[in-house]
Amino acid sequence: MKPSSKRRVLLVGAGHAHLEFIKSWRASDHELAEFTLITPHAHAIYSGLLPAYLLGEVRRSEIQIDLQSLAERRGIRLQLGRLRSLSIEHRHIVLADGESMEFDDLFINTGGHTPTNWQSTAPRCLHVKPLSSFLDLWEQEANTIQRIAIIGAGAAGIEIAASLSQTASAKGKREVHLIEGGAALGLQLSGYWLSRYWQRRIQGQLNKLGVHLHLNTQIIGLPRHPELALGETRMKFDLILAATPTEPPQFNIDQVEQPMPVDSRLQVNMPTKTANTKPRVWIAGDCISKSPWPRSGVSAVRQGQALRSLWHESITTRNATERKFHLKPQRPQLKLLRMGDAAFGIWGKYSLGMSRLWLRLKSWIDGRYMQSFQR
Ligand SMILES: Cc1cc2nc3c(=O)[nH]c(=O)nc-3n(C[C@H](O)[C@H](O)[C@H](O)COP(=O)(O)OP(=O)(O)OC[C@H]3O[C@@H](n4cnc5c(N)ncnc54)[C@H](O)[C@@H]3O)c2cc1C
Repeated sequence: MKPSSKRRVLLVGAGHAHLEFIKSWRASDHELAEFTLITPHAHAIYSGLLPAYLLGEVRRSEIQIDLQSLAERRGIRLQLGRLRSLSIEHRHIVLADGESMEFDDLFINTGGHTPTNWQSTAPRCLHVKPLSSFLDLWEQEANTIQRIAIIGAGAAGIEIAASLSQTASAKGKREVHLIEGGAALGLQLSGYWLSRYWQRRIQGQLNKLGVHLHLNTQIIGLPRHPELALGETRMKFDLILAATPTEPPQFNIDQVEQPMPVDSRLQVNMPTKTANTKPRVWIAGDCISKSPWPRSGVSAVRQGQALRSLWHESITTRNATERKFHLKPQRPQLKLLRMGDAAFGIWGKYSLGMSRLWLRLKSWIDGRYMQSFQR
């Protein structure tokens, strides 16, 4: 079934899921709709390659995806902007600069939002997300940053601390402190905590890399000045970087047509015969509020790979009855944490140990991922 006029499809946020959507997009989709990608930046940064960038193995341009070029190759319009609010009833979104845009189908993939206590206007105190702010600071001031505190010893904090401890500023080898509120590293394996044995092995590797680990040290938000109380002592830092969990963003969504036509499980309500005229909204990645999916790049990629066919089927299906399309969470997921010249592997709830082989596998996966945007 062809719609009488083309649908206006807005893709808000260039997260992992939308990048997959755009990759799987076909030229024939233009017969059905006009697509616009809305993004605050002309580049998307691939977090998987952040350790390699911090280690100086790759340049910033090599961990970024050029959105203008990607969109042009697919015939998608790119608009620089940031979503502020949306109205499903009136089928429009409003951007931060006040511009309003209408839609028939809306996709949201804007990633996790930094909680307010982890946002700071103090120079040299910031959250790792958005990655672009951290990288901007790092590009300009890395040479003067010698003593660093990383707050949060989850997967991201561990990788960043391990990488930075291997690098030097103009003053010499960097001093890196990794601070964790809990009694152990914040690594979870499909909801299970890492065993004591592997806790010790990873802590041993951090120690070998020269990272100062502070467990049981609760920090409740970013300070106004780059100073922290660690035990009895107050320490000054050149950089305090929070790698604490993000949360789903709170957009100003009108309440008229709640709930939105996609539930938190990425379960899409397939349209009825007449529903082609109704607006539909899809949400993917870390911005989903209640989700059985682990919050990870892997989940967002998997969701994105399904999004285009879900959307296409919803537009072209002739089925008069409402159907539900279930996308099962991908479990188990492979996580490879870079730690110096080796990587620690996690497969679902199993630890795969620390090995150079895992680092080679990670480099191969990361390289293949970045290459997929050249086509
Ligand atoms: C150091 C580090 C390493 C990581 N390594 C891994 C890994 O190896 N494997 C893994 O699976 N996960 C990893 N993660 C987690 C992973 O990065 C996130 O889970 C993943 O990026 C979430 O993807 P997403 O599609 O939800 O959105 P994101 O990739 O976060 O992208 C969201 C995009 O939306 C844009 N945006 C934000 N607000 C708005 C707005 N209002 N309007 C328009 N656009 C907006 C942002 O600029 C951004 O480009 C890592 C995270 C970090 C910090």
